[in-house]
Amino acid sequence: MSRMEDLFGIHVFNDAVMQKRLPRDTYKALHKTIADGRALKPEVANIVANAMKDWAIEKGVTHYTHWFQPMNGVTAEKHDSFLTPRDGGQIILEFSGKELVHGESDASSFPSGGLRATFEARGYTAWDPTSYAFIKDGVLCIPTAFCSYGGEALDAKTPLLRSMEALNKQAVRVLKLFGRNATRVTPTVGPEQEYFLVDKTLYDQRKDLIFCGRTLFGNKPPKGQELDDHYSGAIKPRVKAFMTELDEELWKLGVLAKTEHNEAAPAQHELAPIYAVTTVATDHNQLTMELMKKVALRHGLVCLLHEKPFAGVNGSGKHNNWSMSTNTGYNLLEPGDDPASSAQFLLFLTAVIRAVDLHADLLRVTTATAGNDHRLGACEAPPAIISIFLGDELTAIVDSLLADEEYHSAAKKDLEIGVTVLPKFPQDNTDRNRTSPFAFTGNKFEFRSLGSSASIADTNVVLNTIVADVLMEFADELEQAADFRSALHDLIVRTLRQHYRIIFNGNGYAPEWLVEAARRGLPNFPNTVDALPHLIDEKNIALFRRQNVFTEKELRSRYEITLEYYTKTVNIEAETCLMMAEKQIFPACARFAGDIARAVKNIRACGLEATAETRLLQMVTTRNARLLDAIDTLRDAISASKQSGDALADASYERNVIIPAMTAIRLVADDLETIVGKDYWPFPTYDDLLFNV
Ligand code: ADP
Ligand code: MG
Repeated sequence: MSRMEDLFGIHVFNDAVMQKRLPRDTYKALHKTIADGRALKPEVANIVANAMKDWAIEKGVTHYTHWFQPMNGVTAEKHDSFLTPRDGGQIILEFSGKELVHGESDASSFPSGGLRATFEARGYTAWDPTSYAFIKDGVLCIPTAFCSYGGEALDAKTPLLRSMEALNKQAVRVLKLFGRNATRVTPTVGPEQEYFLVDKTLYDQRKDLIFCGRTLFGNKPPKGQELDDHYSGAIKPRVKAFMTELDEELWKLGVLAKTEHNEAAPAQHELAPIYAVTTVATDHNQLTMELMKKVALRHGLVCLLHEKPFAGVNGSGKHNNWSMSTNTGYNLLEPGDDPASSAQFLLFLTAVIRAVDLHADLLRVTTATAGNDHRLGACEAPPAIISIFLGDELTAIVDSLLADEEYHSAAKKDLEIGVTVLPKFPQDNTDRNRTSPFAFTGNKFEFRSLGSSASIADTNVVLNTIVADVLMEFADELEQAADFRSALHDLIVRTLRQHYRIIFNGNGYAPEWLVEAARRGLPNFPNTVDALPHLIDEKNIALFRRQNVFTEKELRSRYEITLEYYTKTVNIEAETCLMMAEKQIFPACARFAGDIARAVKNIRACGLEATAETRLLQMVTTRNARLLDAIDTLRDAISASKQSGDALADASYERNVIIPAMTAIRLVADDLETIVGKDYWPFPTYDDLLFNV
């Protein structure tokens, strides 16, 4: 066997391991539970837990944890050992079905948005058997969902599972109308992950990287990404060594790490896995981000997952490739090769188009963070306006469908819905529009607005829910139809006409698009504070309730948490900016000015004019004065900010007052960086950071 085959999944309690280690009946019962998305029976759980424990102990594991994803975008774990005392000072190693399936967590420090009062601090975790248990750092990790005692979702996983159920239910209904026998539909996701690598010794000298994950100061180096020589260029040995080890670590955990390449900006890279069921893809993306950071350290590197670590070069995103597949093995966004499948494809495609147009606000909300605000719309990433790219061929088909209706509405054709068989759409890279936030790429949609550090859960909750909701409408209408074919045709044409405005194949970076999008009435929320309030619009509360994904209370709690997170993030940046400006930049510039002043004096003592030195001194001191003013302004702004109890007001203050005050400091400081001697500058600059790996 190859090394890859040897490594793949060795740390995962996957189906093959289950089959080998579980009694036949138990295996079948568990398999059925997973396939049907049901709850596990206690007697089955006990046997599974025991087999899991034995397997883990053979691999040197002593502890287990319920591994969950609270609403802070990362994962949480609390380790318990298998140790159980016995008489006579002995111990045995135990792990019960109850411990596998259900955990308690004193989780009062996790964000709950008021869902869990502190006097009832406990939450509980419940195994999500659709995602395999695995061993990480010698600990058996059980992927779980995290809820309050009242059953309210406190994590990213619970709503994701609910949204997958909603999509399953409605998609199966629609498929039945086409005479398909699929009994389960699951969304699939392949998230491409971008990141930067910087040298650890340089990183350690930058407080902004340490506290904020991005630089708050710095000029673009003489060379950036303008030569396009980094994108998919030869990978440097140190980075290659990192990628090799990362791949191996990911393969051990069953992550299908597939493609690794250099990205556009210097020091920027990407990893893409092969797609998986959404829950698994979500877990695996979290593990990928965690391992990227861990493995980088072993190579003297730091992995930056922030959306915009450096101004002036590209930021990092995450591309969420999304589709739906049936348990009979079909991808529902794959254009079929017979008339019936083509019609079915067009219906699902139409459903996505309607869903995205109706709920572009929600998709935008799921990508809104303080970090991603620096990226979206910055002519390197998709604009903040959501539109759909279909490509010329598919757009031509849509156009002909619409034209048909217009000009020969009475004519019934011997076709399913105006097209016999759809052509295969090109899936290669060359023909793609990279400026579109939501692009059809042959057999899936690629949503490109996600930030690189975010969990993919929220976006997929929304995608699954909005498509489920439209499929529900479609199924309601088509199930009542006297003539399925003509009803189908009418529904598709009517819906495409209604939502045609969301289709845009042009350049999303062009300024004209802003004007055109406004004319089309497409929403444009340029930043987080503009976007987030739409999460709790009446329409969206109703949508999530209708699909049983969020109660109103849960949705409002998420709204509060996300706003608070924004406020806290900007606050940390402001404090860091102030500290660096006051304690590092200003003193360095003053020292430089002092040395120049001495030089002026010494030169004059030799009977010379010191004109140039005097001019330089003036340049520095006038800028120092401006820097000090800007520092005062930010300090006052921070002191004046108060927790008003109104999360939106607090976040607005950060955006309206704090961020401009930080920007003003940066402007002068970056200017000073170009004047003050390199030896005086108190931390590594962009040219050091971006070209030293
Ligand atoms: P590109 O860089 O051109 O966007 P990649 O090949 O890097 O393309 O990434 C495409 C991603 O889409 C991969 O993660 C791939 O596994 C994923 N993908 C392919 N088919 C599907 C599907 N049916 N559902 C979800 N994701 C898919
Ligand atoms: Mg892509």
